[in-house]
Amino acid sequence: MTTTPHLSEALKRIEPSRTTAMTDRATELREQGRDIISLSVGEPDFATPANVIEAAKDALDAGQTKYTPVTGTMRLKQAAALHFKRDLGIETDPKNVIVSAGGKQAIFHALVATVSAGDEVIVPAPWWVSYPQIIRFAGGRVVPLITHAKDNFRFTAGDFEALITPQTQWLMLNSPGNPTGAYYPAEMLRLIGEVLRRHPRIMVLSDDIYAPLNYTGEPHATLANLCPDLAARICTVSGVSKSHAMTGFRIGVATGPAWLISAMGRLQSHSSGNPASISQAAAVAAFEGPQDFLDEWRERFRTRRDNVVGAINAIPGLSTPVPDGAFYCFVDAAPLIERFGDDEGLAMHLLDKGVAVVAASAFGGHDGFRISFAADDAVLDEAMRRIAAALA
Ligand code: PLP
Repeated sequence: MTTTPHLSEALKRIEPSRTTAMTDRATELREQGRDIISLSVGEPDFATPANVIEAAKDALDAGQTKYTPVTGTMRLKQAAALHFKRDLGIETDPKNVIVSAGGKQAIFHALVATVSAGDEVIVPAPWWVSYPQIIRFAGGRVVPLITHAKDNFRFTAGDFEALITPQTQWLMLNSPGNPTGAYYPAEMLRLIGEVLRRHPRIMVLSDDIYAPLNYTGEPHATLANLCPDLAARICTVSGVSKSHAMTGFRIGVATGPAWLISAMGRLQSHSSGNPASISQAAAVAAFEGPQDFLDEWRERFRTRRDNVVGAINAIPGLSTPVPDGAFYCFVDAAPLIERFGDDEGLAMHLLDKGVAVVAASAFGGHDGFRISFAADDAVLDEAMRRIAAALA
């Protein structure tokens, strides 16, 4: 990374996102004429629903091209409150909803608005790349809560409680999770809730952005619904990026205690200002329009998951548990690592053989890589053939 005397201390504490770096690298190689399959990106390959596209066009035609209120239009906050109730079982007042430029910005604002030097944030590892970077940017200390493949990358309430100190300020919860697909069923969340009752200072950031992509057949479980007495300490983040294939629209929503939503709004008023007006109109259509296409998407993702997990586990030296949600497999390659030096060396070797994946260390893991199975079935088959050949 370039360092100059002008970089702030806060910026020096963080590195660029390694998932976007790998995706950019794959795009660059493709532009040079190389045949690269990118399984590094975290977005559904399905088309954005037609009613959403229509709503965006209608908003343009209606001249909705000006500033909106900083924290989102009341129309979208109402639609988001409907989504929180219908899809997550969380009762919220639209006044306690904030709309941001993606779930990422909502998380950034929640943490930067509340974390000070010395504060600790417990982050289950492997983690989504941005959590530790945002915490460090804010001046906080990342406390890794290591999870293992044998436990389907889930921690227990006891593991969590063992890491709590007087400095603990937040627990990050991401279910279904990126990069492992880990899903926390209601009984595990209730036990986590019991720990939280014993530690009244700790807040929870529940990142439910993958909620609709749950393959267990159970309804989505989330802490603010299961433990309503703790709701004043929970910030739940959701959005349309993953559920409605709207990654480019940049809309995320969050709900939580009024003081926190207001603090996030205060920061947003000086960072991006309002999220894009056209995207907000499109997100209303996403939340209020038909949701039945999700049944088909879930089925297609589940089939891809089963095929990819089967193919990975058939390659000598690779193994992965079956992810319960989202669209990622976190692959262990420990028996092969010596050949490549480290997991970055392995990822570079696979890139050279035509498949872009992201090294496990980018997510606080080790000796493996993450693949996204949000790609066409034939493309995934070819990618699995290339990985098998590259490691033979
Ligand atoms: N949270 C997790 C776990 C994610 O994987 C992502 C996207 O990759 C986000 C939040 C942010 O999504 P977006 O900002 O695209 O809405």
